[in-house]
Amino acid sequence: MNEAEEEWRPGFHRVTSPSNPIVKQLSALSAKKKERDRTGLFLGEGLKLVRDALETGFRVHDFIASADSLQEGAVADTAAAVKGAGGRVLSVSRPVLEKLSRRDNPHSVIGVFEQRLAPRKEIGREGLWIGLDRIRDPGNLGTILRTADAAGVAGVALIGECCDPFSLETVRASMGSFFHVPLATADEAAFLAAANANSARLLGTHLSATEDFREADYTPPLVLVMGNERQGLTDALAEACDGLLRIPMREGADSLNLAVATGLMIYEALKHPQNAAALG
Ligand code: SAM
Repeated sequence: MNEAEEEWRPGFHRVTSPSNPIVKQLSALSAKKKERDRTGLFLGEGLKLVRDALETGFRVHDFIASADSLQEGAVADTAAAVKGAGGRVLSVSRPVLEKLSRRDNPHSVIGVFEQRLAPRKEIGREGLWIGLDRIRDPGNLGTILRTADAAGVAGVALIGECCDPFSLETVRASMGSFFHVPLATADEAAFLAAANANSARLLGTHLSATEDFREADYTPPLVLVMGNERQGLTDALAEACDGLLRIPMREGADSLNLAVATGLMIYEALKHPQNAAALG
């Protein structure tokens, strides 16, 4: 019998060989955006991440864990919850985990999740949103999602051609926050239309702005608009903003890292009590 087909407990499958066809499919999901787009699925690592997904209503398609860890209470309970919700449970070998996570020291649990995005019309509907213009770096995106989650930000909008939010690198860098922050995508025109329809103000950040970010009015609904790592904001977005802000730097310093600049902006905006409300 093909080991992938072998049911060792009802609804549980054992897969030990990295060349197993199921592993090939899953590793394509881990490595290729095209495969994630085709299937509408994505991968993330760690038991906490799977629990975060279940808690926030993301569908868990597969729960993949080492045979050893499946003996542990918390892992076994989560596997049972995934199974109960119609997901598949795979008991796998360490080489399989290494192949799926593309690293030598893999987590003992990996989840495969259904992709979900917030409706575009939500952008700027209430509270504090972050707009990311053509963000390229998955690590920056994951870090921004992590900060946005910690700060209780209402949502993050990806504007134009961005890196894939469902890549393993982004999900990894978000440390589970991925599932807690509404994420919407829009081209520039659709982003501006949604923010406008919701009467949200746009505050852009720009290296040549003159207004100090510590002096701005952060009354919501508001979108903080952050520029591309290399090119900054497009001219059209900069012109559409209600204000452009600068984070002061030593003369001659190049710029701040995008994720760092976004974190500073978010926490400055939290000084407005209406934005801090989500923190309780
Ligand atoms: N070469 C780019 C430019 O000229 O805009 C640098 C882009 S910077 C690495 C990426 C983004 O981080 C910027 O578009 C802006 O949103 C934000 N940023 C970085 N440093 C900033 C600063 N000192 N003031 C305001 N925004 C900043």
